[in-house]
Amino acid sequence: MFALSTEQLDIQKAAKDFAEGEFRPIARELDAASRFEERLWEKAAELGFLAVFLPEKYEGLGLGYIEQCLILEEFARVDLGITHAIESTFFGTQLIDLIGTPEQKEKYLPPICLGRMKMGMAITEPDAGSDVSAVSTEACRQGDEYILNGGKVFITNCKRADFLVVLCVTDPHNPKVHKRFSTIIVETDRPGYDATPYHGKLSLRASETGDAVFKNVRVPATNLLGEEGRGFYNIMAFFDRSRVQVAALSVGTAQGALDKAISHVRQREQFGRPLAALQLVQGKIAEMATRTEAARSIYYRAASMLDTGKADPALSSMAKWYCAEVAVQVADEAIQLHGGYGILEEYNVAHYWRNAKVLEIFEGSKEVEKIIVAKKILGKY
Ligand SMILES: Cc1cc2nc3c(=O)[nH]c(=O)nc-3n(C[C@H](O)[C@H](O)[C@H](O)COP(=O)(O)OP(=O)(O)OC[C@H]3O[C@@H](n4cnc5c(N)ncnc54)[C@H](O)[C@@H]3O)c2cc1C
Repeated sequence: MFALSTEQLDIQKAAKDFAEGEFRPIARELDAASRFEERLWEKAAELGFLAVFLPEKYEGLGLGYIEQCLILEEFARVDLGITHAIESTFFGTQLIDLIGTPEQKEKYLPPICLGRMKMGMAITEPDAGSDVSAVSTEACRQGDEYILNGGKVFITNCKRADFLVVLCVTDPHNPKVHKRFSTIIVETDRPGYDATPYHGKLSLRASETGDAVFKNVRVPATNLLGEEGRGFYNIMAFFDRSRVQVAALSVGTAQGALDKAISHVRQREQFGRPLAALQLVQGKIAEMATRTEAARSIYYRAASMLDTGKADPALSSMAKWYCAEVAVQVADEAIQLHGGYGILEEYNVAHYWRNAKVLEIFEGSKEVEKIIVAKKILGKY
């Protein structure tokens, strides 16, 4: 894909206008207070920005990942924290759409698209971060129920979500480690579920992250998402899709920081001239713009690949680590170009750098992404 269609340009503009009008005036205040206003999510739903890749029969727009990514890029260009608080409410619908039963799709997808329900994905545990196969939360089958016990960490929407898709062990003695797991939908109002959000985060302060505990939580067996024993593979299929969305969030973060840097170097004078007249500064701006554009190209390609119906794990991973690294580099240079003012929150550029960092860590750290890429290139050796 080399040029956006008129419809895609319209979607991009609508997302930009929404983020500028609704996020910009309140973003710094929400970030400083580590809070979110649910009206922003409700309005985003009203305007049809949530899970646009879902079919129309489930209240999606029947569009593609590319359109979703264009929306997320424009949102993140203004503020990643607010964007994440909105995006995370439908983070996981990709998987329900892919492997859910018709009943599960009917029950969960429309309310999420319409902004009436929020979800989350619960994978990470204290001893299972990058190594997803070390997950130990157990789900024992008893009659027509599963009983869950265990604890998760770093769970987005741990308290806010109406339900979580939980990766848990259902066949602990299977000699094939990757076949020990299943994905199970757990409503957060079930007895035995508890959550504690964190305070004092570097990044994504408007978005909720915290611990989730399952103590004898009973769910009907019909809450099994996909087949028993396929949980690990389900999560990998989910990551193939969600990582491209993180790539788009990264490009939005880079572009937002670049916008701030351009505006600053045009205004700030030193040595009797605007910083923009200094060639070393011009070189920095050119490099930042080039990196951002290259990152955008790779996520366009990765998203377009998903829209053909073929996930390419290595391409999704390339897009994820590369775009995140560009976000960190560009946000870093944006602060450098602001000089001392860059570290003052009131100059409205520090948050791009703070937020960029998490993009290199969650949903697969950049090191993990490179392992996936290398595996495809090198194969067995
Ligand atoms: C804000 C935020 C939101 C999150 N939301 C969710 C969520 O909603 N659901 C969820 O399940 N999780 C969530 N996470 C968790 C996130 O996915 C994990 O933090 C991430 O997978 C890394 O795991 P870890 O923190 O345990 O780090 P570790 O796995 O301990 O890794 C530490 C470092 O070691 C490196 N490393 C690990 N293994 C290797 C290796 N084999 N080779 C080279 N380097 C390696 C890593 O790259 C990393 O740099 C969230 C995290 C954050 C910060």
